[in-house]
Amino acid sequence: MCGIFGIMGHPEAANLTYLGLYALQHRGQESAGIASSDGEVITFHKEMGLVADIFSEDVLSRLPGHMAIGHVRYSTTGSSELKNAQPFVVDFESGSIAVAHNGNLVNAHTLKQELEVGGSIFQSTMDTEVIVHLIARSRRERIEERIVDALTQVRGAYSLLFLTRDKLIAVRDPHGIRPLALGKIKGGYVVCSESCALDLIDGELVRDVEPGEMVVIGERGLTSAHPFFPAPPHFCVFEYVYFARPDSIMGGVTVYEVRKRLGRRLAKERPAEADIIIPVPDSGVPAAIGYSEASGIPFEMGLIRNHYVGRTFIEPQQSIRHFGVKIKLNAVRGVVKGKRVVVVDDSIVRGTTGRKIIKMIRAAGAREVHVRISSPPTSFPCYYGIDTPHRRDLIAATHSLDEINTYLTSDSLGYLSLDGLHACVPKMEKGYCDSCFSGSYPVPLDVQETEEQLPLFRGSVRV
Ligand code: AMP
Repeated sequence: MCGIFGIMGHPEAANLTYLGLYALQHRGQESAGIASSDGEVITFHKEMGLVADIFSEDVLSRLPGHMAIGHVRYSTTGSSELKNAQPFVVDFESGSIAVAHNGNLVNAHTLKQELEVGGSIFQSTMDTEVIVHLIARSRRERIEERIVDALTQVRGAYSLLFLTRDKLIAVRDPHGIRPLALGKIKGGYVVCSESCALDLIDGELVRDVEPGEMVVIGERGLTSAHPFFPAPPHFCVFEYVYFARPDSIMGGVTVYEVRKRLGRRLAKERPAEADIIIPVPDSGVPAAIGYSEASGIPFEMGLIRNHYVGRTFIEPQQSIRHFGVKIKLNAVRGVVKGKRVVVVDDSIVRGTTGRKIIKMIRAAGAREVHVRISSPPTSFPCYYGIDTPHRRDLIAATHSLDEINTYLTSDSLGYLSLDGLHACVPKMEKGYCDSCFSGSYPVPLDVQETEEQLPLFRGSVRV
């Protein structure tokens, strides 16, 4: 769960990367960094915190060059500290290289142990550093070959940007689990997690980087290669459900449109007798509009979000999470009072948000509260880069539909079916990774890796 942005061929590369990261801030709020190159030297700056707080004019002026990569991070592996912030910049025999990674490797632990036995010393606890070590140890000559050599040894999800002295190299794992978009800007190219970052800098979306594709952008333009064994594509369906920004285009379709379709389908599959449809903002808004359209029940903003609070989920400490919902949302009494309300959200993870929201809506006078979720029950953790709790903390893994309804204190609860979800996402001949809903993991996991994933409730009691 990270955002990456890279640019080649623009005199203000670092400034544009800063703007790109701003647009990708929803993908991670823990740390941010930019590395730039003027063709000779790589310079970088990274800190804990938000993009806007880290990069001042002064800091950006110290990142010269016409090429740059940037990263915003929320950790799925590795702890929350500066040494784990990216881009990760190292010097080795063939020069300097900076790396920005979105995704999660599933054999990093095993590889790291092997590398340590062979004498490697690690500076961070990030799985990305394993890739860097493998590149440094490769006996191949050219950097592209070294990268391919390294990546054929790792398994899992990776959308990666590499910055060398004079090249920007982008790679997407053979399953294409995490997104990566290729764009153009006057005089150059951009590669970024989501197309919303291109909109901000007046760039133009060219296409998605393909699963298993390596794009090399140098002084003489762009070349593309498919250096890995082909594998069935498994794009993360949760990007459509929740994670990506609704204004981004993925698989040729605007995420907003997909979410509306999910809502329409949900209304057909799980109708409700009600007076109003209200979303849990912001994530539930497009689906609630779709639900309202298909059901003919009016859409209202019955919950208002305070935009000055970060995403509840994304704060690493449990104490903050507990306050989170109340700080973030408030019910509009005049809208919900005396009404039968359908509340639409994109997903239920532990159920804590939903329970508090329902309490809030009832306290504001709603007569009935029906919960509708525009995805299937989240019953399995993600090991490919989305921050999810251990299975035992996922309410749908341990409770039946009725039990969840009782816990939420809702009058009724309905989820979208898995078939319904697949009917709404673009029909790329490509497959999806829906492991968080189905438990079917496209890339086999090392046992150790399932333990390595950070629990969301850091410091919580393990049962
Ligand atoms: P919970 O209270 O644990 O059930 O959280 C559910 C809320 O978290 C929903 O409103 C979702 O929009 C949101 N959500 C779902 N998955 C994630 C995630 N991986 N990261 C951050 N927020 C999420």
